[in-house]
Amino acid sequence: MRRLTSSLAILLSASACTTATTQPQVSTAIPEPMVAPILTGPEALDTLTFAQPQIARVTHVSLDLALDFEAQRVSGTATLDVLARPDAHEIVLDINGLDIVSVTDMRDKALPFTIGAHVEEEGKGAPLTIRMGDERRIKIAYRSGPDAEALQWLTPEQTLGGKLPFLFSQGQAILNRTWIPTQDSPGIRQTWEAWISTVIPAEGEIDVVMSGIEGDKADPTPPPPNRISHYFSMDKPVPPYLIALAAGDIDFRAIGPRTGVWAEPSVLDRAHAEVADTEQMVVAAEKLYGEYRWGRYDMIVLPPAFPYGGMENPVMTFLTPTFIAGDRSNNGLVAHELAHSWSGNLVTNAVWGDSWLNEGVTTYFENRIVEEVYGKKRAEQEAALMYANIQEVLEEVGMNEPGTALSTDGQYELGSAIAYDKGAFFLRTVERIVGRERFDAWLQQWFDNHAFQPATSELFLADMMANLVRSDAEAGALMLREWIFGPGLPSNVAKPDPAAFAEVDGAVSAYAASGTIPSAWDNWTAAEQIRFLDNLPAELSHEQLAALDIALGLSGTGNNEILFLWLEMALENRYEPAVPQAEAFLARVGRAKFVRPLFQVLWDQGDWGRPIATRIYAETRGSYHSVTRDYVDRVMSGGD
Ligand SMILES: [Zn+2]
Repeated sequence: MRRLTSSLAILLSASACTTATTQPQVSTAIPEPMVAPILTGPEALDTLTFAQPQIARVTHVSLDLALDFEAQRVSGTATLDVLARPDAHEIVLDINGLDIVSVTDMRDKALPFTIGAHVEEEGKGAPLTIRMGDERRIKIAYRSGPDAEALQWLTPEQTLGGKLPFLFSQGQAILNRTWIPTQDSPGIRQTWEAWISTVIPAEGEIDVVMSGIEGDKADPTPPPPNRISHYFSMDKPVPPYLIALAAGDIDFRAIGPRTGVWAEPSVLDRAHAEVADTEQMVVAAEKLYGEYRWGRYDMIVLPPAFPYGGMENPVMTFLTPTFIAGDRSNNGLVAHELAHSWSGNLVTNAVWGDSWLNEGVTTYFENRIVEEVYGKKRAEQEAALMYANIQEVLEEVGMNEPGTALSTDGQYELGSAIAYDKGAFFLRTVERIVGRERFDAWLQQWFDNHAFQPATSELFLADMMANLVRSDAEAGALMLREWIFGPGLPSNVAKPDPAAFAEVDGAVSAYAASGTIPSAWDNWTAAEQIRFLDNLPAELSHEQLAALDIALGLSGTGNNEILFLWLEMALENRYEPAVPQAEAFLARVGRAKFVRPLFQVLWDQGDWGRPIATRIYAETRGSYHSVTRDYVDRVMSGGD
């Protein structure tokens, strides 16, 4: 296969890595790359980084950090191994809000550095340019700023246990530059290790997990007696947004030989029961697309402030507790994060405008895992819900809106029905046309041949043309370019099975016609219940809402997806009895998927809703992660 690398990129891919000396790396022969190549085509140019990896790039990050829960900062050092052109004397890093104390070589000799102008938009931050001369290992002493966007510090009162504080990080897309000074670009893979020290509080133990394997390498700067140090390492090169940390009062319970779950003690039983199928999911995923390459697959169920459903941090998926429903009906989320161990973590979008390569491929893969573990019916129903999402967005913005292309040329919107659901339907369509057997073989070779490397839409397309497509006729039928670069939905889309929701769609019609509330509700799958609520008439009277709530138990549901849909439709119809529950929900949960639309609905309700939204947000804003806060700030300033 063609690979979009120049000879320079291949040279730079030869890693100096952890054994770097102070000598410049001059290689005549090209050694086996330990760090995957960067891509150098124009379509791989990441405009969200200041780094110039074609001149000098970070290959290994070694952190030695202390967590300070009172000041809500991390402080310590980052030691970086650098691979650079022999004539390179500078390296440019990404930082955002860091206090840089000093930069030195490994003999503690100061190296001059400058911090460029801060770029506010998109959280790009500022370039940290270090004059490293011939040094290829540099040490930065620093601390994070007071409002580092990647980090959320929770007081004991914000945790379930109420005894100890909690910290978690969220790096994607470009937030890690608020706590780690490195080249924060998904195309610049780095290995890493970290010593993280915490105080030993009287109230119990603060445990630490990271997106790496815990070990016992001695801390080069041992902590004082009132602190304890934890060591983690990741020996596979990862994009730096995948370096993640969580710390708090957490316990672990095993699921299978290589799988397990961490959570606050009071939620561990429920969390463990909800993810009990994870080992089966790993087996199913391996059967589909080859070996799981990361060793362990553990998860941590975080406090409800976590802004996303899940984050695929290697060997340690981060999860919201709001997916726990008691019946595993929302654990497609686990299948999704697990699938990222291939699509996203193994093969990574080189630029965020190609995020469908991470998310669309993963959403397809997720659905295949769900099919393997839970059967065709559930998988088809979940696919039908995705298809409805795509249609809803396309109806809203129009089939010709350029932003509905999978490859978006730099515009990047996390959580979009396009990158995830349209991306998944693209792969589903290809699978239907070439047949599952050929498609699966192709996708597995895609993961294998591009493992630990960045990818672009052009590379994906070229790989399909070279390794999957057999004839011009087939290429025409597949409409690959339209799918990747065109707006809307191509005409060959493999639609979901219309029978998937036949019963529910009948019940929706019956309700619309005669107000008949479905008697089979309690026997329905969660997807069926969601489908029903999604398709109810937009306008419902207070009597109708009360009747639905009583008959279906909506406000008392243990499934947050259902509860969210109930609150959304109740607020859309200005149903006062739901306001206290919405308020409690918005105070308890920080997941952007739920929080942003509920504030949007209130905002859209003008005179009735805006005062309620303003009152609630005044109480809850401080408890949200920056990701969620940014969304809601936009809503509350009249944007959407
Ligand atoms: Zn994802």
